[in-house]
Parts: sequence; C-alpha cells; structure tokens
Amino acid sequence: MTVCKFGGSSVADASQIKKVKAILDEDKKRKVIVVSAPGKRCKEDDKITDLLYQCNKMVQKGQSCKPVFQVIAERYLGIAQELGLDTKALSAQLDEIRCMIDAGRGADYAASRGEYLSAFLISQYLKWEFVDAAECIVINSDGTVNPFSYDRVSMMLDNKKAKGFVIPGFYGSTEDNTIKTFTRGGSDITGSIVARAINANMYENWTDVSGIFSADPRLIPDAKVIDAISYREVRELSDLGASVFHEEAIAPILPVEIPINIKNTNSPDDPGTLIVPESGEMKLAGVSARGGLSRISIRKLMLFKKQGMRHALLTMLHIFGIRPVYSLQGIDSMVWFYETSNATESVVKAMCERLKSEFDLDSISVDSGYAILGVVGTNLLETSDYLRASQSLYDSGIKISFLNYGASDVSFTFGINEEDRQRAVSVVYDKLFR
Ligand code: ASP
Repeated sequence: MTVCKFGGSSVADASQIKKVKAILDEDKKRKVIVVSAPGKRCKEDDKITDLLYQCNKMVQKGQSCKPVFQVIAERYLGIAQELGLDTKALSAQLDEIRCMIDAGRGADYAASRGEYLSAFLISQYLKWEFVDAAECIVINSDGTVNPFSYDRVSMMLDNKKAKGFVIPGFYGSTEDNTIKTFTRGGSDITGSIVARAINANMYENWTDVSGIFSADPRLIPDAKVIDAISYREVRELSDLGASVFHEEAIAPILPVEIPINIKNTNSPDDPGTLIVPESGEMKLAGVSARGGLSRISIRKLMLFKKQGMRHALLTMLHIFGIRPVYSLQGIDSMVWFYETSNATESVVKAMCERLKSEFDLDSISVDSGYAILGVVGTNLLETSDYLRASQSLYDSGIKISFLNYGASDVSFTFGINEEDRQRAVSVVYDKLFR
C-alpha cells in the first residue's frame, strides 16, 4: 500500500483537489491519504493555518474571532460548493469550531481545525472514510510521537469495506485527550506515522515542486532536482532551510526504512525525489543556507575547569527560551548561535546579566546578522569538497565566521554574514555543482 500526503498547495482550492482525485484514481495502491489545511492560492493569499492562529490571538485579546473566521468559513464553503458537495454538515462543523475558538480552546485546537476541515471535506468528495488523527495519534509533551500511535492508527484503518481513508495531518492528542499540534509543516510527520503504522511500501509526499532541488531555485534558477537522497542527508538539508520535507518526519519512518517520494501534484508524471535509507553512492546532494541567526560569545579564564559547566550554561539559556542551533568552544570561551526570533532584545539583555553574574564571566556579548551555509552529500569527509567550497568563499571575499567539518560525514557548514547568504550559495554552487 502507498500512503500519500498532500500539502497545503495541493488542497488549496477545488481545482487542486480534483487533481488529487485524479492522482488517486491513477493507482489503486493509493488508499490512505493525509491532508494539510488549504494553503495559498497565490502569493498574496492567506494560509488557512495562519488565519486560524490569528483567530486564537483575537480571542486572547478579548475579541471575538468572527470577522477572520468568516474568511475561513467562506473558503471551505466555496471549495465544497465547487466540488458539488452538500454544505449542511460542513456549515454545522464550522459554526461549532468558531464557538469553540471563541470559548478559548487555545492555539493548538484552533490551528488543528484547518487540517480537520480539509480532511472532512475531501473525505466527502472522495467518499472515503474520515479518520480523526486526535483519536489515534498520541503526541508526548515534548512533541515526540508516542509509539502507541502506530497500533492505534493501524486499528483505525482496519476496515476492509472502506474504499480508502482520509486523515488530517499536523495534529494528534496528548495522553489526556487534549488536541496538540506538531511544529509548523507537521503534516509530513503525520504521513510518516501513518506509513509506518500500516507498513506501507511507499510514502508519497505530494507538493507543488517536482522534488528536492540541489539549491533553492529562487537563487539558482537552473538548480537540478535530486533524484535520490538518503534520510540523513534530507534531514541535514531541511535543517539548513531547504523547506521541502519536515526534518522531524524522518524519525517515525527510520526503523522501518520505507522510501519517501517527493512528487508534484501539478506535474504528477515527474519522477520527483526518492528519499531512501542510505544512498550508497558517493555524491553531492545540495547546498542551502539558513539565515536569521544571532551569536552569544562568552569568555572566562579556565571556563571548563569546573565540571558540569557547559550543562549549567545551557540550562540557563533554555530558561530564557534560547535553543542554540550550533555551538563552538575554546579553552576559555564558548559561542552559541541561535535563531534571533527565539528571544526579544529585553530577554537577551536579562539573560546576559544573569549569565555574567551567575557564572562570573569575564565577558559576554550578543550580536546578530548571521547565516549558516551547508553542503550536503554522501561521504563528504573523503572528498576535497570542503576545501574547494572554503576557497570559493574566500576568493569571493565572503567572511567565514566559523566552520563545522567532521561532526557529520554527510554535511559541512560555514557561518557567514546574513548579507552574504545569497551570494555564498551561488558561489559554492558554481564551484561544486556545475
Ligand atoms: N497547516 C500546517 C502549517 O501550515 C501544517 C502543514 O501544512 O503541514 O504549518
């Protein structure tokens, strides 16, 4: 059996949903689908999930979400009408959901309703069974998938009479039955859970591009689609900002080694990218850069003489909501890079004061405007690609603020200034991929 996940652009309007049906009709092995909430129909459009978060914010401010929810309701009703569906049941669902959001059910509940309504509507259109993710996917408090979910999903899909099943992506429930979402883009994770639960032969992930590119095509217009890439490489690329597949979506599928095929709903015959457990061959996969980072630098003589120092420092960062994505250490110094959006200026200031006094630091400073550029490929430590990439950055006058080589054999990374991000991607692409 094949599990298909259709992303927001694949279910953005009635004409896209008709394409979904044509794809399913094409191959009878496609009997289980996971769907996202309707995404943008054009650049200026709103994603339903963003509108739902907005509804929740209004309620938090003491207002009713009605005006924004009206836009959401019209979108779903419009799709249903265009698909020739009876809108009575959908209208009743919409009314109930608006009341619940207004009653303060919270951000996770509000956001999850985008996928819920999408799956409800598509199941009506396909005449397939609707299976609510809240009844079978259990999400732990740290956001990881509770392994009970696999048996529960497989039980819920054990109905021989059903023509097929439609499951909303992005959410499940906690052990005490409260709706909980994954992080943004989390329908990919639901797809992996379902694929593992039913031991699928293939997990097809349908989106609006014909696979994962060797570089962002907005920066490198002639970048090529990668035909095959390993689980580990795709995780590294996603972490570097290549937003095609959620990096947490590999975890559920890793032990069962189900291949994932990234496919294009608007061009279904394109082969797309195959994500496999190990790619074997020695080759480069892609280059990507992620911006929006800040740097904390601390200095203290004999910093690590005291046992448990690093742990204590990290705990303090976590208390202030800062989750470092990269760290470096010297004999008397330590540097962390974190997403600037993790903390406001006042939080950063308070954190610096606290760290300085609590650990009696010689100095602490925070500055922003950094990006991380990474190259991903198989067996990179056995090649000279790292040297060639550094040389190309150096020759182009791009300052490297740190290097990470050797921690992984499928990637190496450079810290650069945010303003050099686009140029750096194209320089490294030219050197290694042309
Ligand atoms: N609708 C959610 C989001 O926009 C989840 C998803 O599309 O995967 O993040």
